[in-house]
Amino acid sequence: MSEIIEGKRQDLPMKGVQQPGRADVLNLPRVHISTHPVIHHKMTALRDKNTPSPAFYRLVKEIGALLAYEATATLHLEREMIETPMQPMVGQRLAGGIGVTPILRAGLGLAEGFREVISEAQVWHLGLRRDESTLQTLEYYNRLPHQINLQVAYAVDPMLATGGSAIDAINALKRRGIPRLSYVCILAAPYGLLRLSQAHPDIDIYVGALDESLNDLGYILPGLGDAGDRQFGTF
Ligand code: URA
Repeated sequence: MSEIIEGKRQDLPMKGVQQPGRADVLNLPRVHISTHPVIHHKMTALRDKNTPSPAFYRLVKEIGALLAYEATATLHLEREMIETPMQPMVGQRLAGGIGVTPILRAGLGLAEGFREVISEAQVWHLGLRRDESTLQTLEYYNRLPHQINLQVAYAVDPMLATGGSAIDAINALKRRGIPRLSYVCILAAPYGLLRLSQAHPDIDIYVGALDESLNDLGYILPGLGDAGDRQFGTF
């Protein structure tokens, strides 16, 4: 969806499209909607139209760190022998590497939040846009690695609106043969959440908050506006 918003298309992609409601998507398998009070507290400042760009970016990063904490709760550990200053012991380390894929450009702040939690995470940037004549998604930037030895990759984008970019990003990561994938967003519309969950039932989806609907242009309601413009001050 971000590609439509960032391209400032004047048409109405959602006009007349039947949308599911919140109740239709609350119990989807492998969808985790945060109930964390601190996330919801920060989200209110994020949504506020009077929050300036520097504070907005900082909040995206902070919420990204909190979502990373939730999304990494089931990662696998492996044993490792170490010596403390006092004695030898068997410690635990994350098994395999962690990849974070920010979908450009709005995903950048969220990825920074992930790096605050897992500083070793590799960051693989992915730029997607829709070809207006064919309506096919084009990867205009792709720094996904060719050699992969990792446990999980997280595709991150603050807004899960129509689900188009999310589905395409997961397709791109699947083509790299990554064994375990998750998608993380701050806000989701029921329409995009249902589409992503149906297109990729084998991934976990972590959502900060579930909103009501999309407007005719594909913006999330009540939402927070354009997450890319608000992070980077491009109005
Ligand atoms: N992308 C955004 O930045 N905002 C929306 O509301 C939807 C998609």
